[in-house]
Order: sequence, then structure tokens, then C-alpha cells
Amino acid sequence: MAVSDNLNRSLIGLATRRVIEEMAVASLSVWLQQRFRELLFGVRDFVFPPICWLCGQVMETEPDFCRSCQERFRESYRRACWRCGRSVGPFADTSGGCDRCAGEHYPFRSVRRLGRYEGVLREAILKIKHLNGEGLAVALGRLLGQMLAQTDCPCDAVVPVPLHWLRYWQRGYNQAQAIAEGIAQVLGKPVLPRLLRRQRYTPSQPNQPVTRREENLRGAFALGRGASHLPSAILLVDDVMTTGSTLREAARVLRSAGVRQIHVAVLARAEH
Ligand SMILES: [Zn+2]
Ligand SMILES: [Zn+2]
Repeated sequence: MAVSDNLNRSLIGLATRRVIEEMAVASLSVWLQQRFRELLFGVRDFVFPPICWLCGQVMETEPDFCRSCQERFRESYRRACWRCGRSVGPFADTSGGCDRCAGEHYPFRSVRRLGRYEGVLREAILKIKHLNGEGLAVALGRLLGQMLAQTDCPCDAVVPVPLHWLRYWQRGYNQAQAIAEGIAQVLGKPVLPRLLRRQRYTPSQPNQPVTRREENLRGAFALGRGASHLPSAILLVDDVMTTGSTLREAARVLRSAGVRQIHVAVLARAEH
């Protein structure tokens, strides 16, 4: 009995030792991996120091924008109506929307934006429309994502407003998709770039009245591949909201397909 007890104890001791050894090796390996990662990132930052996406200034620690550009972005933020995204005064009662959207019906529940389409935001948005503007668009998306993370904006997936293939071919990428990728990185949600597709080319129509724009956009969007698993709450993303006709039409298609909640996120709201 005593022999069997001793044997059991030594077997348990051996097993415990083995577990401790394995844990030590595993934590050493994690420690080494972490040091290796730090070394690699250190070399990368030394050879390719991070630069501000907007002004190109070399930075030390800022992830996307230098302090001066971050400050300029902050200056462009204004209090906005949660329903239509237009700027409102600091003391306006927006519990039911603002004066400009009272009586309006939207297929989306709310509109979030970084700021008005002016100053530094306008400058940044004009830059992303160039062929190599994708990195800046993703960085601006992360900035918008940080703002959204602080608000109550439930969504299961992030859906960019699609670009017609002809426009995609001219630009080389869809800026709304790049912004959606940046937002999704911060919120930890999936991006569904093919949930909607643009089935008709609609030339830009800045001088058309809103009703004419809406008529022209009818049938411009349709459900794309992957629509068999529709999320119940979607964050619909575009770069700028002007009259809102494009976002309304895209949201209308999603609503009629059965999406229950649609929230809109744009970098800027053009206000006239
Ligand atoms: Zn900068
Ligand atoms: Zn409003």
C-alpha cells in the first residue's frame, strides 16, 4: 500500500513538473515572440518611419495623423443632428431631430459624421479621390470608427455604398469601401462590400434638384452576392452626404430586403 502511495505521489509529482516545464517553455516562447515582434516593428519604424497620412510629416508614435492634423480635425467637429447629420447649435433640442429634418422620412435610423464638408475634412476627402488615396481613406475610416465607438450605434456589419464598375475602373478603388474597412478595424465588425451592388451607372448630378436626383437613382442599387444571410443591423458607409439621395436609395433597397436597422456613417456632411 505504502509502495503504491509513494508511486502515485511520484507520478503526480512528475506530471506536475512536466506541466510547469511546458508552461515555462510556452511562456518563454510567447515572450520571445513578443520581443521578436517588437524588434521587427522597431526595424520597420526605423527604416520606414510612420508619416502623417494627410501632411506627410514624419511622426514618432501617432498611428495615422500628426498632432497638428489631429487638432485641425477636432476643430472641424460640430454638434450634429443624430437624425440627418446636419450641424446644430450647442443648445438645440435634437431629441426628435432638428428643424431641417422635421417631417422628413428616412429609411435609416441615424446619421453620424466626423464634421461638415469644409476645411481640413474637405481637403482630406478631395485627396482620397485620387488613385493613391486608399491609405488615407482607411485612416479616415479609423478616425470615424473611433468616434462611432463612443456612441450608441449598434451594427452587425459595415456595408459601403458600392461604386459602379466604370467609376471603380477610373479611380482604382472604392473610397467608401476603404472608409468602411477603417471603421471595421476599430469596431471589430465584418465588412460586406458585395451585399449591395450598383447595377446602373449614374453620372454625378450636383446641380440637379433633389427630386430629380432621386428619380435618377431609382433602381441604381440591387442586392448582391452574400445577401442570403442578411444582418439585422447595418452601418451604411459613404464619404460625403450631400442631399442624401444616394444613401436613401441604398438604404431603401436594404430595408425592402428585410434589414431591420440601418445607421449611416459618413466622413462629412455637405450643408447648404
Ligand atoms: Zn499631419
Ligand atoms: Zn436633422
